Amino acid sequence: MKNELTFQGSIYMFFNEIIGQDEIKQKLIKSVKDNRISHAQLFLGTEGCGSLLLSIAYSQYINCYNRKEGDSCGICPSCVKFSKLTHPDLHFVFPVTTSEKVKKDPISENYISQWRELIINSPYFSENQWYEYIKVENKQGYISVKESNEIIRKLGYKTYEAEYKTMIIWLPERMNPSSANKILKLLEEPEDKTLFIMVSENTGPVLPTILSRLQITKLAKIEKQSIEKSLINKYSLSPSEAEDIAGIANGNMVKALSLIQLKGETSLNLSKFREFMLSCYKHDLPEIQNWIDNMSGQGREKIKDFLEFSLRIIRENLMINQELPEITYMDQEEKDFSLKFSKFINLTNVYAIYEEFNNAYNYIESNANNKIVFFDLALKIFSLIKK
Ligand SMILES: [Zn+2]
Repeated sequence: MKNELTFQGSIYMFFNEIIGQDEIKQKLIKSVKDNRISHAQLFLGTEGCGSLLLSIAYSQYINCYNRKEGDSCGICPSCVKFSKLTHPDLHFVFPVTTSEKVKKDPISENYISQWRELIINSPYFSENQWYEYIKVENKQGYISVKESNEIIRKLGYKTYEAEYKTMIIWLPERMNPSSANKILKLLEEPEDKTLFIMVSENTGPVLPTILSRLQITKLAKIEKQSIEKSLINKYSLSPSEAEDIAGIANGNMVKALSLIQLKGETSLNLSKFREFMLSCYKHDLPEIQNWIDNMSGQGREKIKDFLEFSLRIIRENLMINQELPEITYMDQEEKDFSLKFSKFINLTNVYAIYEEFNNAYNYIESNANNKIVFFDLALKIFSLIKK
């Protein structure tokens, strides 16, 4: 359980499970121990830094009946309800918009089950990924005046069972001035034992009158080492892959995760490319036939993706061949492959090889028959790559 952030239908929102951010965690824990919980707070951090998760873990910790040293217990009735994100005193507000299902006056409540689902299944996500998840990807979400009225209504109730009512507002920058003004008074004169946490990526659009009432906690990007560690432990990457990805992700866990996905696809393309070139080199007709049967069964988009990848790898190999490796952009697996492959590419054949792959791409795009295109391509490569 310690190594799994998610499991069926619930999530252990321990501080320990959140990647990096140790300094902030200690600060938050200390504020609870010292009994100095500010009632209106703003967590400010860029995409993929884990700020939303920290706000939930913080609230869970505050309300835990049996706090451990540095984390909540995970098993008391409050923690159990937090793990499903269904605690009656835990409220969420986030940007929403109209959709197929919600035609008019959308509020967070309309999307609360998708919200819980997304956090539980994929705790690190971007604003765009949220809109994709609720299938409104072309529209910008917002927090409306109707939503502000809901906030006031919900916080007007007395707490059901928790010590604190928590209202987490994700992306307050999506409130317009009239919805923001509506909750000003609540921030000024809060009900007793109410905790507001606004989780923002950019305070630019947030009203100064709102900002001035919030205690601001700035979150740094996640440290590279922490991302690396989690990629190795939770996503089974090798240390060198983890280092590559953590370097490019630059403290953004959302980006790291999309790079892993991309890498899966790239590495599949590389092995297909390797198989194709090798069987062309060996003039192994049955093997080539097999390869073509397999490839033709893929969808058009996957095939185009493969051909684009091939064009890139050929270009990169020409660079290596010309001893200009410093201007290539390849990961370790591609470099290892290219060390051998670049020997078969030179100035006399590379442009023709490139041209043939490019033609294949254009034929596929104009709906030519997949099998014929690849068979034709194989014959051309046969003769271009001499034994
Ligand atoms: Zn607990």
